[in-house]
Amino acid sequence: MKFCSNCGHKVNFEIPQGDHRVRAVCPNCFTIHYENPRLITGTLPVYQGKILLCKRGIEPKAGFWTLPGGFMENEESLAEGALRETWEEACCKPVIQQLLSVVSLPPINQVHCFYLAKMETGEFSITPESIEIQLFEINEIPWEDVAFRTVKATLEHYCQFKDLAPGALPLLETAIYPNKPI
Ligand SMILES: [Zn+2]
Repeated sequence: MKFCSNCGHKVNFEIPQGDHRVRAVCPNCFTIHYENPRLITGTLPVYQGKILLCKRGIEPKAGFWTLPGGFMENEESLAEGALRETWEEACCKPVIQQLLSVVSLPPINQVHCFYLAKMETGEFSITPESIEIQLFEINEIPWEDVAFRTVKATLEHYCQFKDLAPGALPLLETAIYPNKPI
């Protein structure tokens, strides 16, 4: 940020009184512009034991497989955002069963959250964001072509505990740093 989003004045970078981090501070209207991590919310949809994956039609990672998910919007809950993204990316309306993973990415200031969700019908369809959508058996997951490490971690976690009753799977809560295995 170079200019104040409140009044348009050039901002200064300084540590506000009582704070411990450098912030963009407007010397004109005195607004302090805090920047905080962004939340990505999505689902791991399951239909009759198979996992729904979407092949990305857009960058980043076009052509790679992912779980439906995206940036949480204002005025929605984490779960509502996950279902909205699942609809937008896969025209799929699963039922949420439990929170499955919360993965922090400190280097890029994001937190990725995925819910386990049950598809009551096998209905889905491609969208502008997903050029191909497929239900994969556990042993068919294209691990080498999974788009994001948070998605891979969530899929691995699900595969490990998939035989437990929905609602009883442990929560994966971890952080991923560059070049560090989780
Ligand atoms: Zn200002």
